[in-house]
Amino acid sequence: MGDDGHLIEDCIFCKILRGEIPSFKVFEDDKTFAFMDINPVNEGHALVIPKFHAENLYATPDEWFGPTLSTVRRVATAVNAVVQPEGINLLQANGPGAKQSVFHLHMHIIPRSATDGATMNWDLVPGDMDAIGELAKKITAAIE
Ligand code: 5GP
Ligand code: ZN
Repeated sequence: MGDDGHLIEDCIFCKILRGEIPSFKVFEDDKTFAFMDINPVNEGHALVIPKFHAENLYATPDEWFGPTLSTVRRVATAVNAVVQPEGINLLQANGPGAKQSVFHLHMHIIPRSATDGATMNWDLVPGDMDAIGELAKKITAAIE
């Protein structure tokens, strides 16, 4: 990734950005990185993060949030094309009361169906890594 001056040591998403732990990447550009959530609420659940460590929305400068949202739009469009869900929710948690568990700003892209029973908060249940990896490749190919 080159310059990692905006990242910190002790953050799982900064480690993903540095390639220190693996991820199913679907897209990256100079300011953002998109990858599959490994505890998907539904098939196709993806995350988009800035290449800048900020704990939450309040700490994220506009210059990083704008590109993050732009990548969210691109990746959600690809997820929609590949998974063809009934709908997609975007979600972004700030603070423990909102069930934020990783303190590096991230936007969830969550495919939905009206009957999936998903609520705002959910338990982390590991997904099928082969299926997640396959979906990551299809979504990458669908990014326009
Ligand atoms: P939050 O609860 O902070 O809104 O969401 C954090 C998300 O990060 C969760 O949905 C969780 O599944 C995901 N997550 C946590 N650790 C990892 C990881 O190592 N790799 C990936 N791909 N996702 C992770
Ligand atoms: Zn971080």
